[in-house]
Amino acid sequence: MVETGHGATLKAAAPAPIRRLPEAAANRIAAGEVIERPASAVRELVENAFDAGATRVDVVIADGGKSLIRVADDGAGIPRDQLALALERHATSKIDGSDLVNIASFGFRGEALPSIGSVARLTIVSRAEAGGDARAETDDGGAWSIETRGGEASAPRPATRGEGTTVEVRDLFSATPARLKFLRADRTETQAIHDALRRLALARPETALTLRDVTGGGEGRQILSVPAHDGGRDAGRGRRVREILGKEFAANAVAVDALRDDLRLTGHAGLPTFSRGAAAAQYLFVNGRPVRDRQLSGALRAAYADLLARDRHPVCALWLDCPAARVDVNVHPAKAEVRFRDPGAVRGLIVSALKHALAREGHRTATTLSVGALGAMRPDARPSGPPRRSAPYAGPRAEYGFRAAHEPPGLAEAPSARVEPDPAPQTEASADAPPDAPPGAFLGAARAQVHEAYIVSQTEDGLVLVDQHAAHERLVYERLKAQTAAQNVARQGLLVPEIVELGDGAGPVLEAAELLADLGLTVEPFGDGAVCVREIPALLGQPDVQRLLRDVADEIGGAAAGEGAGPSGAAEALKSRLDAILARVACHGSIRSGRRMTGDEMNALLREMEATPHSGQCNHGRPTWVKLGLGDIERLFGRR
Ligand code: ADP
Ligand code: MG
Repeated sequence: MVETGHGATLKAAAPAPIRRLPEAAANRIAAGEVIERPASAVRELVENAFDAGATRVDVVIADGGKSLIRVADDGAGIPRDQLALALERHATSKIDGSDLVNIASFGFRGEALPSIGSVARLTIVSRAEAGGDARAETDDGGAWSIETRGGEASAPRPATRGEGTTVEVRDLFSATPARLKFLRADRTETQAIHDALRRLALARPETALTLRDVTGGGEGRQILSVPAHDGGRDAGRGRRVREILGKEFAANAVAVDALRDDLRLTGHAGLPTFSRGAAAAQYLFVNGRPVRDRQLSGALRAAYADLLARDRHPVCALWLDCPAARVDVNVHPAKAEVRFRDPGAVRGLIVSALKHALAREGHRTATTLSVGALGAMRPDARPSGPPRRSAPYAGPRAEYGFRAAHEPPGLAEAPSARVEPDPAPQTEASADAPPDAPPGAFLGAARAQVHEAYIVSQTEDGLVLVDQHAAHERLVYERLKAQTAAQNVARQGLLVPEIVELGDGAGPVLEAAELLADLGLTVEPFGDGAVCVREIPALLGQPDVQRLLRDVADEIGGAAAGEGAGPSGAAEALKSRLDAILARVACHGSIRSGRRMTGDEMNALLREMEATPHSGQCNHGRPTWVKLGLGDIERLFGRR
């Protein structure tokens, strides 16, 4: 008797006989994993071309790849007598099965062609290299074609083409209507194909690559075209990064080159102020293979953790290279994920390499910011910078989702008349002969404060606008972080201890009391749902202790809920979110917008920003300052 999920009982029937599935059915099942959507077929075919040593690969698609995918290469080709074998499951020329560790090719599973052949109409036309290749011994030199129908391969027929291979896939998933239903709109599938090719192009700078969409017939539309680069791997990668991620990325990224034992990380990481609203622009390669790996994206998130709000994502192109034995590439049917023998070391390398690279250039903010701001100033409200590309940078407002409190007044709507000359002596910096900035002070000399929120300073070659609150928040945070790290947080006792009602939040806060004490926050129990605050970090001045504690409780509650693993889990989670708590705390000690600052105060702030790592962005990844070059200003007024 068998208890079913619905509570009914069934009499066990005689067991069904075990059968060996027909090859076509087995292939169709494998296809479900290997070929998820048109983009996966494109990826497999282009990887095959790469493995065949192609110097150029041309991809043509129609209707999002659903009706047509054609990949032509100038690689080694497939000899006539091996065409049928190429379509058989687990048949590959790339490994002999004796070593699954040292895999240097993209392919090795021998599953792509049979999988595609079982769910679509597949035609291969190929001409193998004349001579030289051992595989070509029995070949007579011409081109041959083979095709599949319902998973059955035809006999090879003579065809014409130069050396290389063309694989054509028609009506993908026509044999599996269920899968067809899951495909997205043509435009979305085309985007996925474009994205796959961008990753492949980055993986292989030495190969020229094109993508054309011929939906509706005719010449179609060229979507991507990149040339082959010679001259060494690193140089090639650098050029490819410019082509694929654009000049703006190149100008707004830091170079990464770090080595730990036999792990090497190279490439470019975007400045926090150049972040995106989605993680799509993260290009990661492990031993040259494009991967989407949760461990790696997790490490990336950790590296930017205190530089970006949680809904912002860095842009990057990073290559991790290591001995083959340190990584298993055979864990995912579509070869999109990998497994590291020592994931901790990989994560450590990524986090520290990126943190160092970003700290080195932490006071930079995205150059595109000033381009965006300039655009806002021009009467026609279009940026004066480089022409927009396919993914336009929308300027600081759209890109950073500024909250109203932080939003700079739209510069276009703020004619100079609104920058009221203030009778108060606070503008002395601009009234009297202003002090010059010391040499090397790239944030210049403060000239004025406007709207009690922004500092205007003059640099050698332009002007800088500083968001005083965002900048100060970052400084307090960095100081708190340094003091905490040195276990030397200066604290101030409250004259009258403050009682804060936290309700449910009191428990977790008290559990974290020891940790909070390290941060300079001394809390004690005070009856039901309340805590008593005795000391706070001295750096905070005189904050609103009630709000401070509620914010900290929120942060701790979030950490505990995130891990959901009991008290020790909560403490662990808390430690890892220490920076987030510090950031919250720092926010309470910052100069609010709306506070007047003296010239000396403003200059002191600028000097400290110059000396502090990461001062180019606030704790939420928004920029703390933007610069307008004199040249830009002159252009604005038509002087150039
Ligand atoms: P795998 O790439 O894992 O070996 P595939 O099913 O993708 O498996 O391809 C099977 C075999 O067909 C390859 O091992 C290779 O020998 C041959 N082949 C496929 N595509 C090409 C190509 N574009 N040029 C040359 N040979 C190819
Ligand atoms: Mg393959």
